Amino acid sequence: MSERHALVQARGLSRFFVTGRSRWSRGLLPAVREISLEIQEGETLGVVGESGSGKSTLGRLLLRLLVPTSGQVLFDGHDLAQLSRSELQRLRRQMQIVFQDPAGSLDPRFRVRDLVAEGIDIHGLASGAERSRIVDRLLEEVGLSAAHGGRFSHEFSGGQRQRIGIARALAVSPRFVVLDEPVSALDVSVQAQVLNLLADLQADRRLAYFFVAHDLRVVAHFSSRIAVLYLGRIVELADRDVLLDRPGHPYTQSLLSAVAEIGTTDESRIRLSGEIPSPMEPPSGCAFHPRCPYAVDRCRQEEPQLARTGEGHAIACHFPLESSSVAPEPTTGQDVGEKEPEERSR
Ligand code: SF4
Repeated sequence: MSERHALVQARGLSRFFVTGRSRWSRGLLPAVREISLEIQEGETLGVVGESGSGKSTLGRLLLRLLVPTSGQVLFDGHDLAQLSRSELQRLRRQMQIVFQDPAGSLDPRFRVRDLVAEGIDIHGLASGAERSRIVDRLLEEVGLSAAHGGRFSHEFSGGQRQRIGIARALAVSPRFVVLDEPVSALDVSVQAQVLNLLADLQADRRLAYFFVAHDLRVVAHFSSRIAVLYLGRIVELADRDVLLDRPGHPYTQSLLSAVAEIGTTDESRIRLSGEIPSPMEPPSGCAFHPRCPYAVDRCRQEEPQLARTGEGHAIACHFPLESSSVAPEPTTGQDVGEKEPEERSR
């Protein structure tokens, strides 16, 4: 078997946004904090989390569409921050993005063939008959026809527009594609078609995907590994089957409980209550503690670090659910939600 190759590596990646305009209202919003991960050639790393968890920001940081506040992104061993503008431009060919809203990313003034060829033109990859041949082949590869190239994007359905968006991304022969909620705006039946198309393209072209979605069902269906994000940090990272069978973080378990048919048993369900806190005012200690049924004093005071608990499995929790360690008894008067700590051992 050939050795697996980490195509994309993030090391300690953080991004803070400045908010507010006046001196008095200015603040720092930590969208992503200290994230390290790797994406292998040909694999799909899915990332799931509620709105505001930092998923899309992380995808843009991996492509250097956003500059990190700290940390590194390496693509095929190259530190993106160390590249000159022209070197980065050359490497960008290999890193593309497919957006959630295909309509918003397709300029209505251009015919589809020119939309698809934009990357080819920017990078000077082909012209004339060769350009037309590449575009026709791409349209067919994504399930459209060469004749569609002469139309405008508003003449297509949502699913067809997303196919055009995918053809645009593929036009420069990328090796890595960020799929930012690529099917969230589509009907369920069309979602399956587009996901199947993406899977076929991955197999044919050995693409690496960073697949962003808020729906764990979709992520679980599509990904080989899954990262769970909460308030800008990875709280669990594991192979898909491990994450579904043995979720170690209470937040992961609550997400699985919400879609119980793909994961947890009745006894292990956790109902998620309340809203995700504002990243401007993250809770002390473990950011999940106000919603965690197992929270105890230590959780309120000490932030858990992402720690390896098994082969390819890492969890950021003082008392991971698959651990044999037993959580301390909650002190009197603390809100522990629906389950007692003892219930956590399985
Ligand atoms: Fe819950 Fe504590 Fe684990 Fe955070 S560290 S997820 S509050 S048990």
